[in-house]
Amino acid sequence: MTCALAPAPTVTGPLDVLGVPGQINLDYAASAPCAQVAADAVTELLPWYASVHRGAGALSQRCTLAYERARQSVGDFLGARPDDHVVFTRNTTDALNLLARALPTGTTVVTFGGEHHANLLPWPRGPVRLPVPDHPAGAVRALDAALGELRRGCDREPPVLVAVTGASNVTGERWPLAELARVARRHRARIAVDAAQLAPHAPVDIRTLDVDYLAVSGHKLYAPFGAGVLVGRADWLDAAPPYLAGGGATGHVGVATHDVRWVTGPARHEAGTPNLLGAVALAAVCDALADADRAALHHTEQQLLSRLRDGLAELPHAVELHAFGPDAPRVGIVSFVLAGRDSAEVAARLARQHRIGVRDGLFCAHPLARRLLTEASARSGRQDLPATALRASIGLGSTREHVDRLLAALTTLD
Ligand code: PLP
Repeated sequence: MTCALAPAPTVTGPLDVLGVPGQINLDYAASAPCAQVAADAVTELLPWYASVHRGAGALSQRCTLAYERARQSVGDFLGARPDDHVVFTRNTTDALNLLARALPTGTTVVTFGGEHHANLLPWPRGPVRLPVPDHPAGAVRALDAALGELRRGCDREPPVLVAVTGASNVTGERWPLAELARVARRHRARIAVDAAQLAPHAPVDIRTLDVDYLAVSGHKLYAPFGAGVLVGRADWLDAAPPYLAGGGATGHVGVATHDVRWVTGPARHEAGTPNLLGAVALAAVCDALADADRAALHHTEQQLLSRLRDGLAELPHAVELHAFGPDAPRVGIVSFVLAGRDSAEVAARLARQHRIGVRDGLFCAHPLARRLLTEASARSGRQDLPATALRASIGLGSTREHVDRLLAALTTLD
């Protein structure tokens, strides 16, 4: 069966998103569609395409200026403090790996088992992994206890970094960042936030949250692939070996192999020709979101999310996954299973027969997804839940029609 869809609405506003008529994208959490403003920024700069930081010509100068302006915009959007570094990376995974390489020797990293692999795997020696509690307040208490234990009897106080997500890519549930940051401060620990899923849905400000580092991905923030950012405290970053060694990160290279002086600042970790178009596109979205009425965007998204979750709740065989309970604040992401149905097969049929794109699997958060599937089975009393889940996620281009089409398609699966 194929479905006729109204043509995609004409793109007019900066935050309208590009898409393909007839295709319903409900997979924003993997990669959001490109915003018009990002496409415009790329198109405008393309004729000026020239080397960044390396050329004396007018084109090159303009590209260098555009790149540094992009850094400023992205930093402003994320609330960077005057002495923070804003380092362009490829994505959140890259940003967190960079931070992991910049940790002072002996740093203990503390995180929760609910993290995306990007925030579980990069940490040297493996993080102290706390179990995911069943309520946000439980996370705050667990962190307090774990940090208290780490600090007990320690007169030297080695560095501690708490690494947490802003919003889960499995459940969409928001983590209590400000409270976790307060606990980290009290125990003289730093805190890094994986904001890959939160930043596209809600304002994220490093100063308001009082956290030390933020990591985001451009491709989840309505910009094209290939640009992300790590924002945060300069001292560890300036003291660390360069993440990438090469041109642009050096102040001096002598004939002797050891005769190298690395610069400080973001350039220390950005060796090689940077991704100018990615940075500029990301900055254009950040500027547009900063100008937008985010409360109104949030309201619309939450209405769609409720419609989706209410619709799923009415399907006799659907079971939603959640860690903090059904009423916890969340962004536009829902994972669920259909009892007795293989998730991969359902996703394939949605794509083939209904032109609806969702994600299936364990969402690069295997420990959390497996645990939530087990809990969903116990909660629902169903023994026939599949071993992987389905995920629908929404954002700026999502409409009631998209949600209703998904629900109708799920109803008609035989
Ligand atoms: N963190 C979270 C919460 C994510 O959802 C993802 C991607 O899905 C990542 C990190 C990694 O992002 P990227 O693949 O852009 O590096």
